[in-house]
Amino acid sequence: MSWEPVIGLEIHAQLQTKSKIFSGASTAFGSEPNTQACIIDLGMPGVLPVLNREAVRMAIAFGLAIGARVAPRSIFARKNYFYPDLPKGYQISQYEIPIVGKGSVRILLDDGTVKEIGVTRAHLEEDAGKSLHEDFHGMSGIDLNRAGTPLLEIVSEPDMRSAKEAIAYMKTIHALVRYLRICDGNMQEGSFRCDANVSVRRRGDPIFGTRCEIKNVNSFRFVERAINFEIERQIDVIESGGRVDQETRLYDPDGNETRTMRSKEEANDYRYFPDPDLLPVVVDDALVAAVRESLPELPEARRERFMAQYALSAYDAGVLTAGRELADYYESTVAAANGEGKLAANWVMGDLAAFLNREGREITDSPVTPAMLGALVNRIADQTISGTIAKKVFELMWNGEGDPDAVIARHGLKQVTDTGAIEKAIAEVMAANPQQLAQYRSGKDKLFGFFVGQVMRKMQGKASPEQLNALLRDKLAP
Ligand code: ADP
Ligand code: MG
Repeated sequence: MSWEPVIGLEIHAQLQTKSKIFSGASTAFGSEPNTQACIIDLGMPGVLPVLNREAVRMAIAFGLAIGARVAPRSIFARKNYFYPDLPKGYQISQYEIPIVGKGSVRILLDDGTVKEIGVTRAHLEEDAGKSLHEDFHGMSGIDLNRAGTPLLEIVSEPDMRSAKEAIAYMKTIHALVRYLRICDGNMQEGSFRCDANVSVRRRGDPIFGTRCEIKNVNSFRFVERAINFEIERQIDVIESGGRVDQETRLYDPDGNETRTMRSKEEANDYRYFPDPDLLPVVVDDALVAAVRESLPELPEARRERFMAQYALSAYDAGVLTAGRELADYYESTVAAANGEGKLAANWVMGDLAAFLNREGREITDSPVTPAMLGALVNRIADQTISGTIAKKVFELMWNGEGDPDAVIARHGLKQVTDTGAIEKAIAEVMAANPQQLAQYRSGKDKLFGFFVGQVMRKMQGKASPEQLNALLRDKLAP
């Protein structure tokens, strides 16, 4: 019997406003506990929330980017529950009328196909504080700095059919909010988090199975593992004659499993009602037009343009447009490299990415600038240096030795195209390896590579590979 997973995600993206959604307190991460919660965030009697206009603009930008209708009038509601990190006893959220209605995004799957995933809604809400369980032997500490930080909750349709699709969707939304500069996407700091709803059904069954919700998983890898674990668990339950209960589960990365957090019976009854302290959010056409005007080129459009303009594969274009800064870096490199799109892509995705990764640096913090990398690509394209020597030049540039021409000159790395010098090296190698020469000449073609290696070594890697190959083939011929 074959099973089909059904997955829907609820993503919380922290909006990168300077101040909170209903107060003027700072949203900066990492300050001393309880230094950034003002009387409004603390819910003191008599205070009144005032909506942050920037948060509204950001939500509108997201709505436009997913082709959704932006509600001309949306309202805030109180979602009531009791928890120590929620000082007011309710969270201000949107319920019946969210600011962003139905939209969709297109995700790129591993096999290169594109799938459309529906977004049901996206609404504005405030974050709660944080409970701290370490360092408080037998007690919990409460840090309310995060209370009142603006969130955009993005709810997907149950359109995903595998953990891989769910991750592709999550990455698409992640790239989008970062392009829009509405969320920094930092998952370690909790600026981008996700609840995954998972159910399974028999393939071909028109009705969805009962779902479980896995709360707050904070990395792409863990979301994928948590979903896969949950799919297997539900299949096991059903195949052994049981029934999946609708419940909230927690993922434990150490044991790689999900565990019951609360069952449906224990689910909160939030008693939503419109918040009497806040006016409806009215978004007029002028505001929508102004936000639309400010939108950057979006990842999908940029990916397609990269494919057309720089002759890149869908994969390369996808990698290079995953971040706006990376895409900007790449385009500046190509501009400096006389339009050598594919070669520039190889360097950005290859050596540059590896060096950044090794040192844990951001692209915006690369010691090799796009101008330097573009110049390096030019020196490869015009055959001043080979690709192998270029790797050495790159490393020297990374270590602060300046632009590629200076590095090539200083270290004498210019490619040798003098036929005489290459021929001399070939003659020496042939004389030193009579046995291999005889074997080659009696038909052992594989030895050609051996000779290439020997000659290149003699030339300290600086011979032009094309020239070396042509000359060697000629000299080795019986
Ligand atoms: P709630 O209000 O309880 O959070 P929603 O209807 O808003 O429930 O759904 C929350 C999420 O669960 C959405 O992302 C939706 O796509 C997903 N979802 C709903 N039904 C299923 C199902 N049967 N299997 C998997 N995901 C589901
Ligand atoms: Mg929900």
